[in-house]
This record gives sequence, structure tokens and C-alpha cells, in this order.
Amino acid sequence: MTKTFFIETWGCQMNDLDSQRLSGSLKLRGYRRVESEEQADLILLNTCSIRDKSEQKVFSHLGRLREMKQEREELQIGVCGCVAQQEGEAVLHRAPWVDFVMGPGNVGHLDQILSGDRRVAIDFPDDRNYDYLTVDRPSATKAQVTIIEGCNKNCTFCIVPTTRGREVSRPFDDVLREVRAAVETGRVEIELLGQTVNAYRCPVTSRDFGALLAAVAEIDGVARLRFMTSHPAEVNDSMIAAMRDHVNVSRYLHLPVQSGSSKILRRMKRLYTREHYLETISRIREAIPEIHFSTDVIVGFPGETDDDFEQTLSLIEEVRYGSMFAFKYSPRPGTPALKIGDAVDDAIASERLTRVFDLHERIKREHLESYRGRVLPVLVEGPSRHDAAMLTGRTDYNIVVNFSAASAPATDVRPGSMLGVRIDQAQHHTLRGEAVA
Ligand code: SAM
Repeated sequence: MTKTFFIETWGCQMNDLDSQRLSGSLKLRGYRRVESEEQADLILLNTCSIRDKSEQKVFSHLGRLREMKQEREELQIGVCGCVAQQEGEAVLHRAPWVDFVMGPGNVGHLDQILSGDRRVAIDFPDDRNYDYLTVDRPSATKAQVTIIEGCNKNCTFCIVPTTRGREVSRPFDDVLREVRAAVETGRVEIELLGQTVNAYRCPVTSRDFGALLAAVAEIDGVARLRFMTSHPAEVNDSMIAAMRDHVNVSRYLHLPVQSGSSKILRRMKRLYTREHYLETISRIREAIPEIHFSTDVIVGFPGETDDDFEQTLSLIEEVRYGSMFAFKYSPRPGTPALKIGDAVDDAIASERLTRVFDLHERIKREHLESYRGRVLPVLVEGPSRHDAAMLTGRTDYNIVVNFSAASAPATDVRPGSMLGVRIDQAQHHTLRGEAVA
């Protein structure tokens, strides 16, 4: 009888893609994907440990799975991803009903684990077995493509170097082959992925991220090209030129700043100052005036004073990010920031987080309102989830647009096509409009 599996995914795009790889490799082995844990013979939890809360979620979920395992002894439960990597064997002590623990370095080695050879697989093998042809992509129009794994940056707050290992870039030609294969199956939107995507260096030819971006953008059929996540200290002229010279490279750049205070940035070991970050923003804006930025911010990092925090607010105001993710600092096991001391009171950190959200809410509203009346190119994704009469898609600036396509030629109205949409309304996070002929 066909075995079934269910994957629960938490965390970043890298985790999403790892789940797509796991799913593809299970299907290749004859497993069938099901939509609930109750129907599954194998449950994989692909976990995130970036903040304490994400980690706690995993253990409370495992608590609920314990009963299921008592009722169905043959059920297999695997903990994958960053909590697996961080906790290793300790997961089995804390939740002995788990069958195996597998870190992100072993996604390509699922066979050894399913065969029962290894219960704990948390190394980073040299051969990561990246078989892109088996990735089970959930979208018919988009494909995520890893170009670099791991991170060498060692930001003092961050668990990623522990959970994802040192940087390993994929060969240039390998990436191009994967993109071509994705385009051939209708994926016209490509997203290049890496924890520090712009630290990419081809291991064979040393070509940099800008060279790769340009080469991918020039592949026939790539209608839109995105990438995540860029580190501000790795932005260089070649990257900016590749963005400027290729109109299919999205006019949207996620450039996590973390703090607006140079003192805190130094404590975080972010490798740039406030001034350097703002200069980088200006340099990019000069080359690509219509660019739209988003960012990540951490509040309440050890030693953050009211003045440091005010500098974060003023930087957000100055850059006017179209979107933003903000977090309260969460101490992570084994990270250098634990030794800094100087903790910020939790109530103060919570209040700062609220102030960041309030400020950004106003900027975002003004930003969305500024599109009213403009016609924007929108890449169609499919019917809107909330209203079957409408379609949904994204602008070049990564903003979701729900729109009616009554006046657009029927042949153009399909997932993967690019339509001009006149924006007539700004909603909370999205835009609304009408496709123009
Ligand atoms: N590698 C990327 C980078 O360097 O910006 C993204 C890493 S992480 C998946 C996404 C965001 O989580 C970070 O940019 C940071 O703002 C936040 N983050 C990471 N560690 C954190 C921590 N210990 N506490 C709170 N937020 C954290």
C-alpha cells in the first residue's frame, strides 16, 4: 500500500525550499502527500529556531503528536530543520516518540534516514546531493532556487551559522541549469535564495553575485527575478549594475538593517555603520530611482538605550521602507550576544516594538496610497483567495494586487502573464485595481 506523508513548515524561504525538496524526494520514493497529520504514515516537522518562540512552537506541537504516536505505533515522526540541527540528540531525550532528527545539511540524504541507518543526522556532508529536478514546487509560475547555503557572517544575535553551517555556493552553471529547467516547466518568476544571497561566489570561476544575477536575468522566459536575503555589507557595484541593467530584476530589495545605531550595529557585528548603510541605500536609489526597500529590525538588543532606539526610528523614517519585519531580541543558545549582558527590560522592548510597528504603519499607508491612479505591471498568480471574481498578482515592488480583469484580453489573463493594472484603492497590506487593455 502507498505510504503517505505530511510536512509542517515553519520559518524562512530556505525552509520552504527544503520542504519542497523533501516532498519531491518522498514522492520519487512512492510516497503520497496528504493534507493532514491524521492521514499520514510519516510526519515531518521542518522547524525554525531563529527566535525562542519559534522553537517553543515546535516542542508544543511535538507534545500533541505524542498521543497520535501512542494510538498508531507505526507512525513515523521526523524533526527536520534548524531546531533539529541546534538540539540534535536532545530532541530524542525531550520527545522520545520522535523517530529521527535531521538537520538542513541532510535534506539530500533522506534515504539513509528513512532506511533506519541514522536516527540523528546533523552533520554538513560535503555532498549535499542537490537534485533540483525532484523539487516539488507548489506554484506553477514561481520557482525558488538556492544559490548559496550557510552563512559566514557571525552576527552576534544569530543562530543561523550554527544551524545552517558555513557558506557553500553552488557552481554558476548548476544554478543556470536549474533556472532553465524551471522556466521550461512554466516557472517565469525565479527567486534566488541564500541566507546571505549576495555573498555568492562561484566555487569554480569565482564569479560574484552580480554576474550570476545578470546571467539568470538574461535567460529567455525569466519574466521576474527576485533574491533573498542581501547583506548590506555585501552590496557592490556589480550587484547594483545587474539590477539596474535588467528590467526583469524586481525593483524590490530586502536589506535588513537590524538597528539604526552604529553602536548597536557594532555590538551585533553587522559589519556596517548607520552611515554606510544609508550611503548604500542612496547609491542603489541613484542607480534605480524606482526601487522599493524592505528591512528587518531588532529592538531591545543588549545595551540599546532610548537614544539608540530613536536612531532606529529616524532611520526607518529616512529610508521609508515599503515593508518591514520587526522583532524583539531573543537570546539564542551559544550566540556571542549572550555574553554582552546589559539586557533591556522586556516591557521596554515590547513598547519599542509597538512604536516601530506604529511608525511603519503610517509609512506603509502613505506608500500604498502613492500608487493610487498609477498603472503597474502585475504578474498574475491566479484567482484571489477572498473573491473568486478577482485575480491576484504582485507588482514589481512585491506588493499584492487584487484586481478585476474584465477589460483585459482573455488570452492574457492566465497565471504567469504580465498585465497592466490601474490601482484604484489601497487596502491594509494590498492594492486593488482593474486590468487595463
Ligand atoms: N540571513 C539574513 C540576514 O542576515 O539578515 C536573515 C536571517 S533571519 C531568518 C531573519 C531575521 O530574523 C533577521 O534579519 C533578524 O532581524 C531576525 N533575527 C535573527 N536572529 C534574531 C534574534 N536572536 N532575535 C530576534 N530576531 C532575530
